Amino acid sequence: MAILDIIHYPGPVLMQMGDPIRIDEFGPDLKKLSMDMFETMEAAGGVGLAAPQIGLSKRIFVMDVAGKDETRQRHVLVNPQIVHVEGEQIGDEGCLSFPGLYQVVRREMRVIVRAQGADGEPFELDVEDLAARCILHETDHCDGIVFLDRMTALKRELAKRRIKRLQKNGEWK
Ligand SMILES: [Zn+2]
Repeated sequence: MAILDIIHYPGPVLMQMGDPIRIDEFGPDLKKLSMDMFETMEAAGGVGLAAPQIGLSKRIFVMDVAGKDETRQRHVLVNPQIVHVEGEQIGDEGCLSFPGLYQVVRREMRVIVRAQGADGEPFELDVEDLAARCILHETDHCDGIVFLDRMTALKRELAKRRIKRLQKNGEWK
């Protein structure tokens, strides 16, 4: 397994719509990619990581929202499609492509998502709370949307200013 480089904002790949994974792309290579993505995500202390964040403009992400002392809840979602949302949650959100930046983002509380596993098998997840937040955030990455785009205009401006300052100081690469 390998730890991959994480692309930080404003890497252009983060703002591109990801290509669907084609039927001939399923198999051992995709499985290996997902294992590398888990390793990269866990090394960086994240709960989700999407392919654009490692420079691949494709519709696949990995997630594991288990707490520190809980058993792993690893999921690979290929070609995710949000089929239902309801409710609302307002809370802090972070992103491995925005190191150190946490902002309040409004998301839906419950999500039903349809996706395929690394083997191509379709499945559905019906989740709430942090898992729902994670799926919405990572599916956004597959669509070329970053969490800045989901903030209020005021929060977005403040976040951009903060990023500029960090870039100037060489603390954001
Ligand atoms: Zn992210």
